[in-house]
Amino acid sequence: MSLPTLTEIRDAIRSRKICSREWVDRALNRIQTLEPKLHALVSYDGDRAMEQAEIIDEKIARGQPVGELAGTPILIKDNLCTSWGRTTCSSRILEQFAAPYDACVVEKLESAGAVILGKTNLDEFAMGSSTENSAFGPTRNPWHLDRSPGGSSGGSATVVAADVVAASLGSDTGGSIRQPASFCGVVGLKPTYGRVSRYGLVAYGSSLDQIGPFARNVRDAALLLGVIAGKDPRDSTSVDQPVPDYVAALDAPLNGVRIGLAEEYFGEGLDPEVRKIVERALDAYRSAGAAIVPVHLQHMKYAIAAYYVIVTAEASSNLARYDGVHYGYRTPNPKDYVDMYCTSRQEGFGPEVRRRIMLGTYVLSSGYYDAYYLKAAKVRTLIKHDFEKAFEQVDVIACPTSPTPPIRIGERINDPLAMYLLDVYTVSANLAGIPGLSLPCGFTEAGLPVGLQLMGPHFGEDRLLRIAHEYQSRTDWHTRRPAIAEV
Ligand code: GLN
Repeated sequence: MSLPTLTEIRDAIRSRKICSREWVDRALNRIQTLEPKLHALVSYDGDRAMEQAEIIDEKIARGQPVGELAGTPILIKDNLCTSWGRTTCSSRILEQFAAPYDACVVEKLESAGAVILGKTNLDEFAMGSSTENSAFGPTRNPWHLDRSPGGSSGGSATVVAADVVAASLGSDTGGSIRQPASFCGVVGLKPTYGRVSRYGLVAYGSSLDQIGPFARNVRDAALLLGVIAGKDPRDSTSVDQPVPDYVAALDAPLNGVRIGLAEEYFGEGLDPEVRKIVERALDAYRSAGAAIVPVHLQHMKYAIAAYYVIVTAEASSNLARYDGVHYGYRTPNPKDYVDMYCTSRQEGFGPEVRRRIMLGTYVLSSGYYDAYYLKAAKVRTLIKHDFEKAFEQVDVIACPTSPTPPIRIGERINDPLAMYLLDVYTVSANLAGIPGLSLPCGFTEAGLPVGLQLMGPHFGEDRLLRIAHEYQSRTDWHTRRPAIAEV
């Protein structure tokens, strides 16, 4: 039996077939059953959630409007600020941090009637591709508990795949929504840079970060995007562009779709099983009448190098604020004030975060800035131009989301470069600022999910979702669930 979607739960609550409290209670029970196995959450507040659900139920009983998400339970990544509970970024340095305000997306979710249950696990400060960099321990892949759910939004992908909730939010700086969506067999969307306000998202790489939805199907992702998108005066990089009705766009007629295929995304390092599965997905589009058009993205081979220069540079300056003085962890017995700064940061940050701060500080340092940061910024512009040229010919570009199926926990944690290579197909969308979506397109022999990535032009989410929806109306990969979702 396929699991109820966000849209179905919302409709059932609105039409009083079920009440919000029942669904919130169900989700809380699922958390209790599954958390010991999955460790997908950092924190949750069942009492607050039940109170919120009760308010929605009362409104419905009185016939008052309750918004697009009326009473549906949702989980969000723990790098999104909430004025209640803690916002830890899965870091020791913020373990006790209580944010003084709600992120813009939190306000939007709640005013649309969503009930936020709690916060999901991530790689510390969203730096990683496996959720193993969490200071609170790794999350496990619901399809195979020895595997990683991907990262950095591993917790948000896991809770959707394991049917704790129908949808969640994550953030994506270099693939952190799409890659875990691929590893967990769910849909994940990174919107265009500027589509969703970053106000209240703890900054990692500010010129790359975007917040986006996880869901089990494209329709639910479209619903959620419509709720969180839009200009926000508190984020000057959010763009004042009308928010289309993404759900209505799914039913628009689809004629003459052109899907770009870049050989740069099918080269060395691609797992042969993943390649076969993705090629089969492209065949499905072909037989649906889409034209598959070769495109050339000649600077793609520099994407990973450029990304890791730019993102570490931005991270090193964004993380300067955690100094043991303003807020966050402070070492208990420093020798003097210099020791206080150094030891607080040494003890508060994990090894991967420290590595990135060092790398970022190095590429920005005088004498090296031109050779590294400036050069990477130029490569970024070339990559953006490659996409602009390609999108003159095609509607979307298709490729694998990840070069491999879900990796084993522990497999790459001691080899940072091998870990960075997991992002080889996702970082270019962030560098160019374009939207990207991952959707389930099959399983390996070992029963592990594989994702198809579709990327579109700036603010082309409606068409991107439409084309992704077409695939889901012809296939049923997205309805498969891990055994753990049946318990
Ligand atoms: N894995 C990439 C990194 O570690 C992307 C992370 C993300 O998108 N937040 O930087």
